[in-house]
Amino acid sequence: MYELKVITNFSAAHQLKNFDGACEGLHGHNWKIEVCVTSDVLNEAEIVVDFRVLKQHVNAVMASLDHKFLNDLEAFKDQNPSSENIARYVAEQLSLLLQAPEIKVSRVTAWESETACATYYPS
Ligand SMILES: [Zn+2]
Repeated sequence: MYELKVITNFSAAHQLKNFDGACEGLHGHNWKIEVCVTSDVLNEAEIVVDFRVLKQHVNAVMASLDHKFLNDLEAFKDQNPSSENIARYVAEQLSLLLQAPEIKVSRVTAWESETACATYYPS
């Protein structure tokens, strides 16, 4: 199996409900997002997918989050915009944008600080 990874980032504000700690108040993060996609096969150019194409899709998902108050977004209306849920949101949105059935989003990691991250593995 082949795995590609792209790293990107976005800045946004959020507020976590039912959370006893500093993240309960309104605040922002500069999230670093790592996206991994896998494929068992290579295309005729012997790559999984053009990094440029993959980055275009990833950037489209980032644009939906960047400089937003995440709690206001439809995706987080009924759930906290935690790093865990952000990672899942990115994985789900990217899966919709990737047209090739042989390419799967294998994991998305959302770093909310230099030392703390959450990873989502689509089942
Ligand atoms: Zn936070």
